[in-house]
Amino acid sequence: MVLIIDSHPYRYEAEALCRMFLRGRELKIFEGEDIPAEDFIYTGVFGDKISVRIKMDGKDLSAKAETSEGKAAKMEYLLYEILSEITGLKPKWGTLTGIRPVKLALQMMDKGISADEVRRKFKEERLVSDEKLDLLLSTAEHEQTIRALSKPESVSMYISIPFCPSRCSYCSFTSHAIEKAAKLIPQYVDLLCEELRDTAVLMEELGLHLETVYMGGGTPTVLTPEQMDRVLSTARSSFDFGGVRELTVEAGRPDTITPEKLEVMKKNGVDRISINPQTMDDGVLELIGRKHTARDVVDAFYMARSFGFDNINMDLISGLPGDDFDKFRKTIDSVLELEPENITLHTLTVKRSANLAGDAQKMLSRSVDEMNEHAFRCFDEAGYYPYYLYRQKGTVEALENTGFCKPGKEGIYNVFIMDETHSILATGAGGVTKLKDPHGPKIERIFNFKFPYEYIDRFDLMNERKEQVKDFYERYPL
Ligand code: SF4
Repeated sequence: MVLIIDSHPYRYEAEALCRMFLRGRELKIFEGEDIPAEDFIYTGVFGDKISVRIKMDGKDLSAKAETSEGKAAKMEYLLYEILSEITGLKPKWGTLTGIRPVKLALQMMDKGISADEVRRKFKEERLVSDEKLDLLLSTAEHEQTIRALSKPESVSMYISIPFCPSRCSYCSFTSHAIEKAAKLIPQYVDLLCEELRDTAVLMEELGLHLETVYMGGGTPTVLTPEQMDRVLSTARSSFDFGGVRELTVEAGRPDTITPEKLEVMKKNGVDRISINPQTMDDGVLELIGRKHTARDVVDAFYMARSFGFDNINMDLISGLPGDDFDKFRKTIDSVLELEPENITLHTLTVKRSANLAGDAQKMLSRSVDEMNEHAFRCFDEAGYYPYYLYRQKGTVEALENTGFCKPGKEGIYNVFIMDETHSILATGAGGVTKLKDPHGPKIERIFNFKFPYEYIDRFDLMNERKEQVKDFYERYPL
């Protein structure tokens, strides 16, 4: 399929919208007025006039509109209507293709627009379904309470441990299977500790206050107990932890969790951990390359409880290859039986870098939306509510990832990062520091080197980039 962009700058919007309907079909983009293929999606904007024509699957439909503002949104609307008629699909998020729909709603509410008016606008102008509007507005309500905790001087910190015991087939993160990368870890930990100390000095100089800390990856619990202790105790002794509201470690894979590591986390004040089954079906676990069983998840969970962890998140994924509605239903039942404080339901995202993007994609279940609806119902009945959500490119059926929690157990870091409430200072390979103007919407990013070997080899150069943090806060003072 060919997408033609004629005389307008809305290529990104047009492409994102079309991909929701094309579901894996190849899409080539051409700029200009020529129509180089038999089947095509044409988009043109001339002054206030917007024109869309789609020739596809034996149908040839077109639509026109005229508007002086919101041209991209209007073009998306026309594309959605025609693509929906041709394909029979009705993506439930309507024409919203961005990562942060809740942020969009909250920005409107910040301008004094009521929740009812946001609902009306999203429904009529962006074609969002009632079901997603309920989810969106309920999440927005809970996010509002959390983001109100942030002050101009607030920042959060991300500590990256980009290593895993093995690589999951659906993974699109920069994470390195431990067998190959093990020899890098000691030096990585040394430098990470140095970066943490430097970051603490910088924060103190700038008068910044640490709100939440998230140690993620990868799988941080691939480190030995001693290595974990070094990273966590360096963080604790370098920063002022007096006002820190949450210290999360993404334990992730249950096969990496041991009593020694739980003890180290407890000793260092970790008060929230993630134990991520993704699915509780052993066959599916094997198929996606996880080297643990559902029983391991249950054992790790109770082990963590026995060490006093009373705030545990569990990540699940809907749409995994080999999964079906029945297995998914059992996964939900098994996880609810454990009564974790948080459950995060991801919808599978198929990116080019993941091994899944090839043949395995054909094995994906077709009823992902049905699975999510079922999960949402069960979570609601069990007393959980949604407190943050985000969308990703390439998610199966253009669905979303949602964090649910028991009352008062929101993962605070998750809200801050998704809402872009305040700056996130990232440490470690692959970390992206995101600087946010304390009094406005301006955001700037500083990228750490992506791979551990680059992080190690070019550490000094990378650390110099942190000078940009000072520069930012000089331009956007507290
Ligand atoms: S545990 Fe997470 S980061 Fe590691 S390979 Fe699996 S999906 Fe990727």
